[in-house]
Amino acid sequence: MMGLWRYRHAARNQYRNLRTVLSGKPLIYPSFGSMTLESDDVRLARDCLAQDRLTWQDENVVTEYQKEFCQWNGSRFAFAFMGGRVALSACIHALGLKAGDEAILPGYTCVVVPNAFHFAGIRTVYCDIELETYGLDADCLKSLITPNTRVIVIHHLYGLVCRDYGKLVDIAHRHNIPVIEDCAQAMGAEYQGVKVGNSGSLSIYSSEQSKVINTIQGGLAVTNDEVLGHKLQKYWDEAPRPSNDFVDKLLHNVLLNYYTMKHPQRWYLRDIIHIKHGNKRLISTTTAEELGTRPENYGAKMVAPVARLGLNQLRKIDRFNLQRRDTASKWAEWCRNNGYRVASSVADSLPIFLRYPVLVEPERKSNRGWARQELGIELGVWFRSNLHPSQRTVVNCPRADEAVKRCVNFPTLLT
Ligand SMILES: *Cc1c(COP(=O)(O)O)cnc(C)c1O
Repeated sequence: MMGLWRYRHAARNQYRNLRTVLSGKPLIYPSFGSMTLESDDVRLARDCLAQDRLTWQDENVVTEYQKEFCQWNGSRFAFAFMGGRVALSACIHALGLKAGDEAILPGYTCVVVPNAFHFAGIRTVYCDIELETYGLDADCLKSLITPNTRVIVIHHLYGLVCRDYGKLVDIAHRHNIPVIEDCAQAMGAEYQGVKVGNSGSLSIYSSEQSKVINTIQGGLAVTNDEVLGHKLQKYWDEAPRPSNDFVDKLLHNVLLNYYTMKHPQRWYLRDIIHIKHGNKRLISTTTAEELGTRPENYGAKMVAPVARLGLNQLRKIDRFNLQRRDTASKWAEWCRNNGYRVASSVADSLPIFLRYPVLVEPERKSNRGWARQELGIELGVWFRSNLHPSQRTVVNCPRADEAVKRCVNFPTLLT
């Protein structure tokens, strides 16, 4: 039944393509997703799929990935997991947080962030953001700190360095509260010549398929602190491995992702790859997880094939980020010409612009057709709710609410 459905879907797509061509319109597929997978990544995935499954257990490749990341990022310890959210769970564990402790989180983030805390029984309090870089607002943070606050999560969204970065770290430091930096969207962004993620106690990065580099799923927990480094090591050592079946699916998703979003002939190749491997599609966050259920395979460490992809992507990250910055300057010009505020770069910072955020009219966020027609792109909607993509709400975060209504983002890697 599923197979038949896929053929029908393909036939409908191709019929639509034919009509588009006959009407004289170009066959464009607007780009979205991270767009960093290239033919060499696809070769690598196929190569891994052909390997003996025993080699998938080789921890040396994972160690190499962690080491290379440290070198590139200017950090001391890095541990690779099967998701940024898992890396966050590792950080929570490393800090020794216990049920009943309180964490301050951005009131504008992915639902998997609060989930990592809730899975550990920790209470979450939400801090409002500023609307220049969508980071925590320093004054709001100050007002929320209580004797029960055990950790503060700050973030750098869309690849921008957050406006109050220095102040936020200072406030936490003065109160002797550890900071976890959520760098899931900002791998490679710099502040005062140092890559983000090196100022807090711990930091997390993601290589999920919409992020700066793409291993379909994956993430890193990083620290410069020796004691926390040992705690993360212990957590990593004890973490389970994903099943071979899951890794097989993940590798097929490299093909699905590439032939759907990136290949120049994707107008027909996407249908062929879906007929062949559409049943292996992975979803980053299931509905149950959105609603706060801990998935069964949650908590796994990274394995060799994924680390090989990570290593290959890491070799290309600087080129991607350069390209993103270049596209961002074009979007800035578009903003100036169309009366929208240009995305801010904090003084002395080097953003990487994973996406280019713009505050538009609410109607332009809820109805995205205009971007296809006017710009030939698929408009991004991070975030459509305070704890995206769940419908859970937070209180006392009016600026975050405003961003939910008005903040859209443009892709910065185009094909
Ligand atoms: C994607 C993302 C995460 C989670 O990373 P995963 O690898 O998907 O688990 C956390 N925080 C932010 C801001 C993100 O965008």
